[in-house]
Amino acid sequence: MAAVVMDGKALAAKIKEEVRQKVERMERKPGMAVVLVGEDPAALAYEAGKRKDCQECGVYYDTFRLPEAATQEELLDVIGVLNDREDIDGILLLLPLPRHLDEGEAVRAIRPDKDVDCVSPVNLGQLLLGGEGFRPCTPAGVMRLLEEYGVDPEGKNCVVVGRSHVVGKPQALLLLGKNGTVTICHSRTPDLAAECRRADILVSAAGRPGLITGDMVKEGAVVIDVAMNRDAQGKLCGDVDYAAAERAAYITPVPGGTGPVTRAVLMEQVLAAALRRGKQ
Ligand code: NAP
Repeated sequence: MAAVVMDGKALAAKIKEEVRQKVERMERKPGMAVVLVGEDPAALAYEAGKRKDCQECGVYYDTFRLPEAATQEELLDVIGVLNDREDIDGILLLLPLPRHLDEGEAVRAIRPDKDVDCVSPVNLGQLLLGGEGFRPCTPAGVMRLLEEYGVDPEGKNCVVVGRSHVVGKPQALLLLGKNGTVTICHSRTPDLAAECRRADILVSAAGRPGLITGDMVKEGAVVIDVAMNRDAQGKLCGDVDYAAAERAAYITPVPGGTGPVTRAVLMEQVLAAALRRGKQ
């Protein structure tokens, strides 16, 4: 039996509409600023997407573009100004930064209560401790997709492929927080296939097209493909071979799976930031 395709676009539309309705009723609208260093085409496209999301949700939006050769001081100045600006509730610093800049210092400079992408050590620490606060948008979006389709991680073997700070590690913590039994795999995992075959919930975020083949998927598993790769023809694809859909109970498409939900969760977190900062 073919898997149920988890419709990220539909869930994202629902989340954004809820945000839009709440924002519409607010006197002081939430605001988000994106900080972009350089002219990377992928980052520019990403930035345009954020602008569109904010427009759709009625959220005030501003972009700060710095040249590729910007100094650390210039970057910290921009972050400092945004930290102090009353109209801005969320700051999104597009990563990676050019190599000459100190990413750790820049991330630490963002006020934790405006760190809507959850990149600062304070917010990541809150995640580790299970406290209140922002969550990294992609793994939080995966949890929303699971919830939407009635998949409860409790008592399930959850395997996460990838251990980055933005996806793999926070994903594992969120699944653990829902009482899943979690395994994290990475490039040094000796037998990835064996680990994946034990997964009731498999989340792949390696960024390697075709890494997860059909035979690595347990019958009836939930397969979440976070990756966004380009195949040999330049077409967007994930890590998971489509043959996996034959065995899975649920699967996310790429595109149209986790990507749109990530963006919608960011809008939700900007709204939450504004409410927490007293906007009504
Ligand atoms: P990353 O920092 O490059 O991390 C990739 C992880 O995958 C690393 O931990 C790496 O292991 C592991 N890995 C690589 N090759 C592997 C292999 N052959 N077997 C097992 N593990 C392997 O990437 P990221 O930022 O986490 O992003 C991962 C993917 O998700 C990318 O395709 C990215 O475009 C996508 N993404 C999607 C969204 C969304 O909204 N859907 C958001 C963010 C990222 P090591 O640690 O051992 O090197």
